[in-house]
Amino acid sequence: MRPVYDCESTMRQSNNDSNPLLDYSGLPRFSKIRPEHVRPALDRVLTENRSARERLLEDGAALDWHNFVQPLEDMSERLARTWSPVSHLNGVKNSVALREAYNEGLPRISAYHTEIAQDERIYRAFKEIAAAPIYAELDPAQRKIIENALRDFRLNGAELAPAAKERFKEIQQRLTLLSSHFQEHVLDATQAWELVLTDERDLKGLPESARAMARQTAERDGSPGWKFTLDGPSYLAFMTYADKRALREKMYEAYVTRASEQGPHAGRWDNGAIMVEILQLRREAAALLGFANYAEYSLQRKMVKSPKRVIEFLRDLAARSRSRAGRELEELRAFAHDECAELEAWDIPYYSEKLRQRLYDFSQEDLRPYFPVDQVIDGMFAVVSRLFGLRIEQLKDVDTWNADVRFYELRDAQDEIRGRFYLDLYARRHKRGGAWMDECISRKRTPAGVQVPVAHLVCNASPPLGEQPSLFNHTEVVTLFHEFGHGLHHMLTKVDYVGVAGINGVAWDAVELPSQFMENWCWQREALDLLARDYRSGAPMPQELYNKLIRARNFQSAMQMLRQLEFALFDMCLHLDYDPEGDKSIQALLDETRREVAVLIPPSYNRFQNSFTHIFAGGYAAGYYGYKWAEVLSADAFSKFEEQGIFDRETGPAFMHDILEQGGTREPMDLFVAFRGREPEIEALLRHCGLVS
Ligand code: ZN
Repeated sequence: MRPVYDCESTMRQSNNDSNPLLDYSGLPRFSKIRPEHVRPALDRVLTENRSARERLLEDGAALDWHNFVQPLEDMSERLARTWSPVSHLNGVKNSVALREAYNEGLPRISAYHTEIAQDERIYRAFKEIAAAPIYAELDPAQRKIIENALRDFRLNGAELAPAAKERFKEIQQRLTLLSSHFQEHVLDATQAWELVLTDERDLKGLPESARAMARQTAERDGSPGWKFTLDGPSYLAFMTYADKRALREKMYEAYVTRASEQGPHAGRWDNGAIMVEILQLRREAAALLGFANYAEYSLQRKMVKSPKRVIEFLRDLAARSRSRAGRELEELRAFAHDECAELEAWDIPYYSEKLRQRLYDFSQEDLRPYFPVDQVIDGMFAVVSRLFGLRIEQLKDVDTWNADVRFYELRDAQDEIRGRFYLDLYARRHKRGGAWMDECISRKRTPAGVQVPVAHLVCNASPPLGEQPSLFNHTEVVTLFHEFGHGLHHMLTKVDYVGVAGINGVAWDAVELPSQFMENWCWQREALDLLARDYRSGAPMPQELYNKLIRARNFQSAMQMLRQLEFALFDMCLHLDYDPEGDKSIQALLDETRREVAVLIPPSYNRFQNSFTHIFAGGYAAGYYGYKWAEVLSADAFSKFEEQGIFDRETGPAFMHDILEQGGTREPMDLFVAFRGREPEIEALLRHCGLVS
């Protein structure tokens, strides 16, 4: 009998190592991880994986799941476990040394994946296993992993001739590096600019929370007065509330010219050439594989299968939104007219907020006292307790990367531990902007039992100010629910194989279904009562305020819809028929898209595309439409709850079973139909956005 490769024992051996990145015995020891650990850990895992792989391939025996696919899965999991804390810390606790180590490692990991993806022996082995009689006896998750592997082999150039294969590999490595540079430029440009105000009159219009945040930032950096930055919470507050128009303009210009040849740091971190090269290389890679363009290539792994269908979908939504968006803009112009005859881009959030207050007598700031952080989190847990029967408890004394980070454990109605997660809530220096969920540990079944999945939930909410708890605005609450939805998808999976457990193997245009689905509860009175309490008195949100929140929900929703559609169409066209080596610039294509879709044309120096990390550094290339597509899915899924009751005792568990537990084992369309009883329809989304009544 041939020995079966035992990854478990390799993992145990590594535990003796003093390098914390090679310790897989439990949660990552974040406080012990140093940039100098990265390279040796990676060296070792890559070397050991490579030689283990050769041993597997040298063996002459017939290959099957247990002696081939599972060991390969274990190796890739081991690499993921080693790299996950590095990539995570690079996002939440960036430093020059860590960034260097990260960038040194990235292309090597990319090269490693490409060499597997192009290894004819492995490809042949997978084909043989898929053709063997034993294949039919595998369970659906195992078969899906093999099916995906065969698809990915083709898409990674396994069937290419040697020279083309070599070129494809070069392209992938170069793209990985370019994406990383793109992201760094955005981060550096964001951090490099600040607005320090020392005259209190310049703060006119700003709410107390924004002033306090700016004061705190200034104090931290030892500067006088109030410091505003291009980080999300600071920038948005300034653009929404600051009365001084010239200062808003200054801030706007700095923000929309980040990483470009325009604005206050013109040329310093310019992503212009990187974008062109990324597009050229993607085009070339797609052509090597015989695709007409990169969009076709990208859709091979998605739920919507053709670029034509995507464009039709986006144009249809645009057509349904445009006239209403035009009216929304006219309404805003008319409202602002006496103060501001020519409405510019830096006036839009400002006057929109004023108009919102006028129409609904309501401001985002009015809600903050009702959303103290602990109440929001407890309330969110109460919501999933009622929906899915889950119970969540905080665990103390867990090693993290910052004192503000919390750690939780999630159990189901049968008291089985289903997952654990880190929650890193607040914006701070050296932390990437935005919000995201990332995998720390994935679920799988081992001889010792089930490996419990662990997630990272990261937000950039307003931090606590002095003694006062962090008070969220409603948007920050929605963001938290969104990321928690991703986290539930990762943690509630019942799939026993990492390759299709949780969000693994889920098509990108369906992966936002659970996250956007969870957002719906932030708008329901019954759910809000669980998470909104005045932090001073404990009183629930007054009905009158709730009514205002709901009435204001679709304020300018058509304008927002068009903005998303503009980004999505731009992304799709950029990867469909745009020739980066032709006469037309990226800017010209964006201008064209705007002329088609937008009601509002920004100033000519706007270089939004230069910080569009989603498509240049984040895996959404020819896939940004997926947000809207998944909104169709999530709105339609939620409409079943509207029909049955939002905490219906059968519908919640059905959603958990049909969608959240299934991971990537089946096509997303099949999962959706299993839950909804039919294919998705667009009506619920239009109704939720107020585009039809
Ligand atoms: Zn998301």
